[in-house]
Amino acid sequence: MSIERLVVIGGDAAGMSAASQARRLKGPEELEIVAFERGHFTSYSACGIPYWVGGDVDARDDLVARTPQEHRARGIDLRLRTEVVEIDVGGRRVRAREVESGAESWTSYDKLVIATGARPIRPDMPGADAAGVHGVQTLDDGQALLDSLARARGERAVVVGAGYIGVEMAEALIKRGYEVTVVNRGSEPMSTLDPDMGRLVHRAMEGMGITMVNDAEVTEVRTGEDGRVRSVRTADAEYPADVVVLGIGVRPETGLARAAGLPVGVHGGLLTDLAMRVRGPVADGRVWAGGDCVEVLDLVSGRERHIALGTHANKHGQVIGANVGGGYATFPGVVGTAVSKVCDVEIGRTGLREKDAHRAGLQFESVTVESTSRAGYYPGASPMTVKMIAERRTGRLLGVQIVGREGAAKRVDVAAVALTAGMTVEEMTALDLGYAPPFSPVWDPVLVAARKATAKVHGGAR
Ligand SMILES: Cc1cc2nc3c(=O)[nH]c(=O)nc-3n(C[C@H](O)[C@H](O)[C@H](O)COP(=O)(O)OP(=O)(O)OC[C@H]3O[C@@H](n4cnc5c(N)ncnc54)[C@H](O)[C@@H]3O)c2cc1C
Repeated sequence: MSIERLVVIGGDAAGMSAASQARRLKGPEELEIVAFERGHFTSYSACGIPYWVGGDVDARDDLVARTPQEHRARGIDLRLRTEVVEIDVGGRRVRAREVESGAESWTSYDKLVIATGARPIRPDMPGADAAGVHGVQTLDDGQALLDSLARARGERAVVVGAGYIGVEMAEALIKRGYEVTVVNRGSEPMSTLDPDMGRLVHRAMEGMGITMVNDAEVTEVRTGEDGRVRSVRTADAEYPADVVVLGIGVRPETGLARAAGLPVGVHGGLLTDLAMRVRGPVADGRVWAGGDCVEVLDLVSGRERHIALGTHANKHGQVIGANVGGGYATFPGVVGTAVSKVCDVEIGRTGLREKDAHRAGLQFESVTVESTSRAGYYPGASPMTVKMIAERRTGRLLGVQIVGREGAAKRVDVAAVALTAGMTVEEMTALDLGYAPPFSPVWDPVLVAARKATAKVHGGAR
């Protein structure tokens, strides 16, 4: 029997999940697996970086789920610190360069997995690359930030961007004793929420002592004579800074794939079918892609989107691994569920925001309810705000956003299931959700919102 070779580009969530799953299905006598990773780590949790920087997680190695040695022990030929610089799809081979020595060589493949992730957006402005300005995409970035915090021993930090990474990093820096200013281009933090819900996050951040500057764009990072950051300028103001953290989003890392002629969508991500196989004749049915470098189908709007989340990357990897390992699996799409927190305020969202629904041409009703995390009389009950969006006339659930304390974030999973099942808000009112005073009021906040949404959709008739 001839041995096939699988080549994987990218050694984190999507790439190593694919490699590991393929290895589970096929042994080394049937499938040779070569994985290239340009960094120092494999199978690491970038998601844990804010908690490592903030001191909740002790050590960098705690964020590594599987080391290169562990992968090698499972029969994966892992080439660390080696970057793939060209894909030759016609010749079924990749050209790789060792980062330290610069030595290059070609490796042929029968099947190829592209799992190159996403690249953080660096603002195009003076000082963006100055010492003390940090991204937080990789464990190396996290280490560089921690080294910088130890070296600078400063007092003031500016976070640029108020998406979930910016918000989590603001909390981490507060925990490190910094005065933190977050400069945000949008009208409220967390643009994945509607602004009325983002305002609740804004208030929570201010309650922690974080200064939020909305509707402002950073135009320059100013440095001192030593070349280190001193301040951050916007059109109207200047904010002193001993350290700057960038959290202004990511773009799919698809330069290699595009150069090879593989298809990318309007958001710059690779386009795949449901089996995560790259579409089109150039890929020749031999190329798969997953994780932050691909676009995914939004099951609610029916559109393709780029959503950079580890939860999707791991699932894509599993699906790819099953398919390249001779099994069968598909990834049907997402409903847009994401959770995060700032201190003890939890944030959950799933489905469409109002502006997504508008953009999709949907007419809708939205309701917001104030409830509590536990029965009102039970000690520790805390406020929780639920916003629910439902299609006009049909009552189909379109989206839910929740901001509150304990239990707020994961409550959104109920809505994610309802969205996936295509439920109406009226059907949601009958869901048999658990109740006991320490966990929820007798009417769970999600059910209260569903009842209110049902009444609004049906003109108060129910
Ligand atoms: C601070 C932070 C917090 C996050 N929090 C969450 C969270 O709470 N929940 C959540 O779901 N997601 C979270 N994410 C997102 C999550 O980490 C990513 O979605 C996930 O890591 C994507 O996995 P991936 O394998 O597609 O890409 P990546 O993790 O980016 O891995 C791609 C790998 O490919 C390597 N690579 C790229 N090009 C080449 C090449 N040419 N040759 C060799 N190697 C290459 C890179 O070095 C990298 O290691 C967070 C991300 C960050 C940065």
